[in-house]
Amino acid sequence: MTDLRASLLARLDRALAICEAATPGPWACYDAWGRDRGRVNVHRIGNDRGVGLQATSCADIGGPKADFEFIAHARTAYPALLRIVRAEVEQHYRVQTNLRDNECACEELEWPCRYLQDLAAALESL
Ligand SMILES: [Zn+2]
Repeated sequence: MTDLRASLLARLDRALAICEAATPGPWACYDAWGRDRGRVNVHRIGNDRGVGLQATSCADIGGPKADFEFIAHARTAYPALLRIVRAEVEQHYRVQTNLRDNECACEELEWPCRYLQDLAAALESL
């Protein structure tokens, strides 16, 4: 049987590596203009050092304002949440006691515990 904990940590680490490879955050939307029913045009999404996604030549990127804000917010929030989940996963590991061979460190009487199983189901798409 595959080690569920190791598999979860590997998937979280792959997702964190993608975050770390992207332009450092925090990100914001720059040179946004127009507000027609929640849609805006944005020239650049990225950090305050001028790095990030940028429209070429004189064109802007158009779309719902909420989508641009989500992209900028996700640059900081997504890796932070991945680190929280990773720290949670690290709290669960197999222990052997005199009474049982496979018990989770969280004191659930099974390995992998229900918490790790729920996390694996929630993170299946990672
Ligand atoms: Zn556990």
